[in-house]
Amino acid sequence: SSSPSLHLARSPPQPSPIRLSKFASQKMRILVTGGAGFIGSHLVDRLMEAGTNEVIVADNFFSGTKDNLRRWIGHPDFELLRHDVTEPLLVEVDQIYHLACPASPIFYKYNPVKTIKTNVMGTLNMLGLAKRVGARILLTSTSEVYGDPLEHPQKEEYWGNVNPIGVRSCYDEGKRVAETLMFDYHRQHGIEIRIARIFNTYGPRMNIDDGRVVSNFIAQALRGETMTVQAPGSQTRSFCYVSDLVDGLIKLMACDDTGPINLGNPGEFTILELAEAVRELVDSSAKWKVVDNTPDDPRKRKPDITKAKSILKWEPKVALRDGLPLMVEDFRSRLGIHK
Ligand code: NAD
Ligand code: UDP
Ligand code: UDP
Repeated sequence: SSSPSLHLARSPPQPSPIRLSKFASQKMRILVTGGAGFIGSHLVDRLMEAGTNEVIVADNFFSGTKDNLRRWIGHPDFELLRHDVTEPLLVEVDQIYHLACPASPIFYKYNPVKTIKTNVMGTLNMLGLAKRVGARILLTSTSEVYGDPLEHPQKEEYWGNVNPIGVRSCYDEGKRVAETLMFDYHRQHGIEIRIARIFNTYGPRMNIDDGRVVSNFIAQALRGETMTVQAPGSQTRSFCYVSDLVDGLIKLMACDDTGPINLGNPGEFTILELAEAVRELVDSSAKWKVVDNTPDDPRKRKPDITKAKSILKWEPKVALRDGLPLMVEDFRSRLGIHK
């Protein structure tokens, strides 16, 4: 019943009235750099689950892993490129989420020159790409641009207190230059930019040994090791659960504001309070000790999220006491510890 003449009689395919992408695809085509990392892989999950996107990940696997993207490998709407963003990249996309950059102090201090190249040359390349294809680009900047802040909580208008020649500078000054590049491409070339300033984020899939405080404390408590509270322990951080953060990134990409917009959870805890919370949750006999701190450690940090609330209609939903157990579950299964 499928005669050749019937095929010929068929009218040519009509363009769909709803076309999300300007490329051949009906779907929005999205590049996620750093998509094999902690935040990136959760973002990829959300973009893929929407069903209306094609996702390309570019990652050099320095601090991320293919394992984080296991469920999407082989999916027709998904592509994984081993690529270093300090090299030019030619792809055709509608949007770019530019996350590629080591984020934990252990990783970004391991090869500081590479970290600054990633921030500067990597962001330049992604902006060149955005310019060539007319894509909107979102940069994941950081609360570190505020340095050791003299204003508390931190508003987006605050210019920061950053040491330009310290051991953290490759990361925080690197991100500051990345922000500058974003705004110069916006003003000079009309590129559509979005800048998120992300505050400490935690959740499943964090690299177990990346040295950040939440991952360290949970891994130490599970392994029966002493939790390492870096002096003095009264320094504060505000911890955002990763699903909340990803919501914020997607809303920021969709909104009409360039940012920068703070994304974080305003709940503020001292590091000692965090150690206590992990002890209660994992093992009531767990111990902590005070150890030396690293240079230039910010003494306090808490986002002012007024802008995110009004512009994005976004605020975090998951409190630390609800998010920590989800991360502990993930760490238990990855460490194979079931006590
Ligand atoms: P992560 O280390 O898990 O992810 C970063 C990813 O980028 C990794 O997969 C890594 O392999 C990749 N990468 C690094 N250098 C690269 C390069 N030159 N080329 C290609 N890929 C490269 O870290 P994360 O916590 O998921 O952070 C993601 C982004 O969010 C980073 O830009 C980070 O600065 C920002 N951020 C994170 C936090 C946080 O608390 N996690 C806070 C503020 C900002
Ligand atoms: N670039 C890229 N992909 C592209 C277009 C540009 O990686 O699709 C890189 C390009 O190699 C350059 C950078 O982005 O190093 C900045 O590009 P732009 O066109 O803004 O500057 P120019 O090439 O004129 O210096
Ligand atoms: N910290 C700690 N013990 C650790 C790791 C970190 O007490 O094992 C402290 C660190 O001194 C800092 C805070 O926890 O005051 C957050 O450190 P992290 O590296 O997680 O993030 P960032 O400094 O980038 O906010």
